Amino acid sequence: MDKSVIVSLKNIVMNFDDEQVLKGINLDIHDKEFITLLGPSGCGKTTTLRIIGGFIEPHEGDVFFDGKRINKIPPYKRQVNTVFQKYALFPHLNVFENIAFGLRLKKTPEKEIKTRVLEMLELVNLKGYGAKRVDFLSGGQQQRVAIARALINHPRMLLLDEPLGALDLQLRKEMQIELKRMQQQLGITFIYVTHDQEEALTMSDRIVVMNRGMIDQIGTPEDIYNEPANTFVARFIGESNIVSGIMHDDFDVEFAGKHFVCVDKGFDKMEPVDIVIRPEDIRFKQPDENTIDGTVETVTFKGVHFEMIVDSFGTKWKIHSTKAAEPGSFIGMALTPEDIHIMHKSYASNMNIEEASSIQEGAVNEKEL
Ligand code: ATP
Repeated sequence: MDKSVIVSLKNIVMNFDDEQVLKGINLDIHDKEFITLLGPSGCGKTTTLRIIGGFIEPHEGDVFFDGKRINKIPPYKRQVNTVFQKYALFPHLNVFENIAFGLRLKKTPEKEIKTRVLEMLELVNLKGYGAKRVDFLSGGQQQRVAIARALINHPRMLLLDEPLGALDLQLRKEMQIELKRMQQQLGITFIYVTHDQEEALTMSDRIVVMNRGMIDQIGTPEDIYNEPANTFVARFIGESNIVSGIMHDDFDVEFAGKHFVCVDKGFDKMEPVDIVIRPEDIRFKQPDENTIDGTVETVTFKGVHFEMIVDSFGTKWKIHSTKAAEPGSFIGMALTPEDIHIMHKSYASNMNIEEASSIQEGAVNEKEL
C-alpha cells in the first residue's frame, strides 16, 4: 500500500432498513491532507465519516488505518477525533476544563494539562478565554472550544461533520480560513463533511463528490471544477451550461449545430456526449462562422460580473462577463478548445441536481444511456 495513505476504504457497503445507503465506496485518504466529502443531503457523507470514526461497522467491505484492518476497533481506540455541528460542550465547565476533559480522563499530570490547554487556546485563537463559561460564548467561539477539545489528544486525524453549519455566513467564511490554517499548522489529516460546494472548494486539498451512496468523482478543487466527471458534478459544483453533442473524432465535437475543436480524445466515433461550458468561459462578440449565435434575453448585474441569458434557437445559454451586451441584441458566443469540457453520457445526463440525487436504482437504469 502507498505509504502516504492513512485510511483506506475498500468496497464499503452499508444498509439501513433494507436501503443500501453506501453502495461500494472505495477511497484512499492521504496522511496530512484536507479531504472533503461533498454531496447533497442523504448521499451518505455522514455514514462514511461514522464508519471511519468507528461509530458504526459497515455491512460489507474493509476499513484500513496505516494498512491495518480496523473494522472491529472501537472509536476510542482509533487515533481519530470528531467535531460535530452541535458542539456538545459541557455547560457547567469553563472553557479550560472543557478542553482539558480528555486529558483529565487519562490522568495526565496537572502541569502538562495546563501547558497543552494553553497551547490549544492559542491555536484556536481563544487566548485569555480559559476561565469563561462556555454558554456565554458566541457560536463561533464555542465551535473553537469544541475543535480545541478534539485536538488536545493529538489525534492523527480529525473528522468534522458540517462543523460550521450553525454559523452565519461571515463567521463561517472566517472559520473556513482558520480551520485550514490549523490543519496546516498541526500537519494532521482533516476529513470534512459538507454539502456546501464553495466551502469544499475553499478548504480542500481533494474533494470527494458523493451522490446516492456512491462516489462520482475524486480530485483537487481545480480538477473537479474544470473537468467534472459527469453532469451531476458539473451542476453541483459551480454554474454551467450543459448541452448534448456528438464526438465525431478525437478533438472534433459537434454541438449547437456546429463543429468545434476541443482538447478531448479517446471517445468512440460518433459517441453521444455531454458538454459542459462554464458561464465565465464564454466571450461574446459579433457573430461569425465559429460562434454560437443568439439573442440576449436578460442582463443582471451580480456585483463582480454581469449575468446574461442568451437564447440560441431555443437553447438558453448563461454568460458571466465583466461587460454587458444590450438586452435584445443578437450576439455571437466564442469558445476556445479549453473551454469545452466533454463527458461520457451518464445516469445524470438530462437531470437537474434534485432528480439526479433522489432517483431510485430502477429509475437510474431506465434513464441510463
Ligand atoms: P446530510 O447532509 O443530510 O447529513 P448525508 O450525506 O450525511 O446527508 P447520511 O446521514 O450518511 O447522509 O445518510 C444517508 C442515508 O442513510 C439517508 O437516507 C439517511 O436517512 C439514512 N440513514 C443514516 N443513518 C441512519 C440510521 N441510523 N438509521 C436509518 N437510516 C439512516
